[in-house]
Amino acid sequence: MNVFLQAIIHYNIIDKMLNIVLFGPPGAGKGTQSQKLVDTFKLVHLSTGDIFRYNIKNSTELGILAKSFMDKGNLVPDEVTINMLEAEVLKYPDAKGFIFDGFPRTIAQAEALDKFLESNNTSISLMLALQVDEEELISRLLLRGKDSGRADDTDESIIRNRIKVYNEQTAVAADFYNKQGKFHSINGVGSIDDIFERLSSIIVEKNR
Ligand code: ADP
Repeated sequence: MNVFLQAIIHYNIIDKMLNIVLFGPPGAGKGTQSQKLVDTFKLVHLSTGDIFRYNIKNSTELGILAKSFMDKGNLVPDEVTINMLEAEVLKYPDAKGFIFDGFPRTIAQAEALDKFLESNNTSISLMLALQVDEEELISRLLLRGKDSGRADDTDESIIRNRIKVYNEQTAVAADFYNKQGKFHSINGVGSIDDIFERLSSIIVEKNR
């Protein structure tokens, strides 16, 4: 790791709010990298998938609704997801920034997030998009399904549907941020540490 990156990490010298959309298809490694980014940059990690799974586990009304979509590999409706995400953000008034993982997944969600952040006097700093080819994604997800207990990771046809939904409904969110000059593509194949360094370098570069 280069000296400049080490200094950032050691002294934590990014002082303005840092809001990152970590983007990429299912299985791209968003969860793994989020954890490392949170530890390093002291951000709050909001994973809509994790929040839905927490609600499913606790059999909340939201969980029961979300499960009916998630089990098929489809998206939970925008309105439900947006309301949930906004309520989560408001739980952390002192956050130095957020990592949005799994959100926004549609243009409507991206527009809602921009509006919401603006009304809270902040904005998305950048979108980091992990690129991984489809066959690699499928094998990673099937492997994860062996011990994650996630129903949507064990059935190849559901995995393929999630990737199809990503290509048809979610990938366009990249254009949304590209138009704002905030989109960055990152090779998501390699060691966890190498990918982390690719992501961190962009964050550091953008905050100079
Ligand atoms: P992955 O990206 O690995 O497929 P996630 O844990 O991010 O997994 O999401 C699992 C499921 O949760 C999705 O397939 C979808 O049904 C639901 N979900 C998560 N985030 C959103 C979102 N922003 N909008 C709609 N549905 C979502």
